[in-house]
Amino acid sequence: MKSVSLLGATGSIGVQTLDVIASHPEQFKLSSMSVGKNIEAAEKIISKFQPEICAVQNEEDAKILRSKVRTSTRVVSGMEGLIEAAVSTDSTVVVNAVIGSVGLLPTLKAIEAKKTIALANKETLVTAGHLVMEQAKQHNVAILPVDSEHSAIYQCLNGEDPKRVEKLILTASGGSFRDRTREELKNVTVKEALNHPNWSMGAKITIDSATMMNKGLEVIEAHWLFSFDYSKIDVILHKESIIHSMVEFVDTSIIAHLGQPDMRVPIQYALTYPDRLELINGKRLNLWEVGKLHFQEMDYDRFRCLKLAFQAGTAGGLMPTILNAANEKAVELFLNGHISFLEIEELIERAMQKLSNVSKPDLETIQETDNRTRQYVESLLSKGR
Ligand code: NDP
Ligand code: MG
Repeated sequence: MKSVSLLGATGSIGVQTLDVIASHPEQFKLSSMSVGKNIEAAEKIISKFQPEICAVQNEEDAKILRSKVRTSTRVVSGMEGLIEAAVSTDSTVVVNAVIGSVGLLPTLKAIEAKKTIALANKETLVTAGHLVMEQAKQHNVAILPVDSEHSAIYQCLNGEDPKRVEKLILTASGGSFRDRTREELKNVTVKEALNHPNWSMGAKITIDSATMMNKGLEVIEAHWLFSFDYSKIDVILHKESIIHSMVEFVDTSIIAHLGQPDMRVPIQYALTYPDRLELINGKRLNLWEVGKLHFQEMDYDRFRCLKLAFQAGTAGGLMPTILNAANEKAVELFLNGHISFLEIEELIERAMQKLSNVSKPDLETIQETDNRTRQYVESLLSKGR
């Protein structure tokens, strides 16, 4: 029986992780969880799974939840509570499915506590990849990818000598606006942007997919997870989302990972690795039903966010932190109707030009820069740009 801590239980990945846990009760048990503000959903999850700890973002919500909970679950709050949910039970694995760089500290603490990390929260690796990977190495802790592209690459690399790898090839569906020109992107609405053709995901990552920043963050995530230089990471458009990613070897062979676009597959694999379990209610992939797969070269001028991410990753140091924080803030502003779709990339670019870089930043500098970047982006808005 594997005991699991789940951060971000009310989100898209969180709910699918609970589905995996519930579908194999003989294998998994939920020992702790965290939510942000959705305490109504938290109450239901607690009553079904009876975890020892539930962390809530704010103390006011925690008080309300405490008054409703009928199990022995301890309700804690704030960053301290989130860390407690990550480290204070007998769990052997922490599924990090919170959104944004708020996931960084609990990840570092969970690594210190020697827990395996099943990582969905890519912003953590983007903002402080060197710290997370160093810490994982020092404590001999595995970071298992939940992101479908990285889970795919992890499986394609299985046992191969990294020196024999020519390229990691990440596939990108193209998001909600795949077939639109830049001109046509000027007046797109939030509602249109939230309508992803293949995947049903949380709001922030759906916008990231439409801007192609999601792929940019994934390129940086791949760099840290697999230790490949940016020149060895490629992105290709593949609109069906059937090939989740590929690895090309020096002998020109390419190994690909195929599957339905169903996040429960990589979530479950991260929980069962190196073993596999049946995916309950999983839909089999009949390639004859799919018929054709399409591929297209990536256009870095059309998808400027991807270019910015390669630039930030290659520059290293604080640049990915700035990229990530500016993106988180800009997406929030877009979702709240304060800026247009194309202004997202503009604000990120301006933050990258304005804020200065430092190589090998420590945790404090990263956190400071994250805050400063968000403030800078906000200030551009109040100055009327
Ligand atoms: P959602 O927005 O659906 O869920 C985010 C979760 O984090 C919710 O439980 C939310 O709580 C919680 N949360 C949000 N803000 C805070 C905060 N400040 N403090 C504590 N908890 C917070 O996101 P997704 O599930 O879509 O994505 C989660 C992560 O996984 C992201 O990093 C994303 O990039 C990555 N990912 C997602 C995929 C997907 O298919 N969705 C695919 C691959 C990667 P509440 O709702 O209660 O407020
Ligand atoms: Mg992905």
